[in-house]
Amino acid sequence: MKILCVLYDDPINGYPPSYARDSIPVIRKYPDGQTVPNPERIDFRPGELLGCVSGELGLRRFLEERGHSLVVTSDKDGPDSRFEQELPDSDVVISQPFWPAYLTRERIARAPKLKLAITAGIGSDHVDLRAAVERNITVAEVTFSNSISVAEHVVMMILSLVRNYLPSHDWVRRGGWNIADCVERAYDLEGMQVGTVAAGRIGLAVLRRLKPFEVGLHYTDRHRLPPQVEEELGLTFHPDAAAMVPHCDVVTINCPLHPETEHLFDDALLARMKRGTYLINTARAKICDRDAIVRALESGRLAGYAGDVWFPQPAPKDHPWRTMPHEGMTPHISGSTLSAQARYAAGVREILECWFAGRPIRKEYLVVEGGKLAGVGASSYSV
Ligand code: NDP
Repeated sequence: MKILCVLYDDPINGYPPSYARDSIPVIRKYPDGQTVPNPERIDFRPGELLGCVSGELGLRRFLEERGHSLVVTSDKDGPDSRFEQELPDSDVVISQPFWPAYLTRERIARAPKLKLAITAGIGSDHVDLRAAVERNITVAEVTFSNSISVAEHVVMMILSLVRNYLPSHDWVRRGGWNIADCVERAYDLEGMQVGTVAAGRIGLAVLRRLKPFEVGLHYTDRHRLPPQVEEELGLTFHPDAAAMVPHCDVVTINCPLHPETEHLFDDALLARMKRGTYLINTARAKICDRDAIVRALESGRLAGYAGDVWFPQPAPKDHPWRTMPHEGMTPHISGSTLSAQARYAAGVREILECWFAGRPIRKEYLVVEGGKLAGVGASSYSV
């Protein structure tokens, strides 16, 4: 089989010869009891950079020993890209949401052999799921592999916006000691009302991490959490985002991108927020209306916007979110820490081992199978 794998570029100074730390903690289970990926073996050392082209998700030896061919490239966009050239005779495509190989309907039509699309990470919205359903392509992602990684990033971004961390850090870099300039936009999180759109794996982990900050916690989701969880965390449930946001000082978006959530945060929803709300979006850029976010920051409706998701990715140099006021943006990195990479690389290998052996892929990894939404896809997505 031919496996086409799209990964982000190596660091500009080349593949790292060593790392800041010698090991990463061993995690055996996720908070809901799901076990971490358990392939028969791995050919990498956890903590290595696996998500870039030279890292190859640690797959080359495994695939080549079994007689498969592996093509790894970062060149993914446009008709002349290596991805377009290699796609027509590929059986499996692997891609990461951070550097997504957009599997559009048109591209799927040009890939008659394609049977399996694996997301090395979570969030398969870069695949046209309806087209995958129609063509009976299996789509799988490595559920939970980086949910906690993202939750930690969300907490970091909430604190950095509310406390005005990044502009204050800039003053230090510039040789300043401008305390008043730093603190004129700095507040404590304590006592604020924080709401999450979706309380799935990431959203719930964010709520749990914020509990000790003595904030009011709110959520909306298609399904309610168990009453004991609501009680333990002191959660207030709202039927939808429109009902929740007027109560919040901080809103964090943690739902998948699908037709129901696309452009959910538009001018009308933003107008329902308190003046000076902070909005954090590490889910998917298109859940927000790009220009409405810029307008809300300029008008003061939003006091800050932070996130790591953009459209398209990579974001063009002139993307307005790079230069809008009071932003705390990063490239799409929250789910690709070295810790997360070890898990999703092992998860990709587990999925491939199952696929080659004709064993079922774990239900929790499935998004599309057998011509319909399946597993996690059936509960979290719509086509
Ligand atoms: P989960 O599937 O665990 O949670 C998603 C939650 O969203 C579910 O509870 C689901 O509801 C809920 N949901 C779906 N549609 C709606 C809606 N219209 N309104 C309210 N809630 C809704 O996924 P994760 O928490 O692990 O990940 C969430 C998303 O975060 C991913 O889909 C991905 O887009 C993004 N992500 C970003 C990463 C990054 O690096 N920045 C990395 C990993 C994920 P229910 O199941 O109850 O129907």
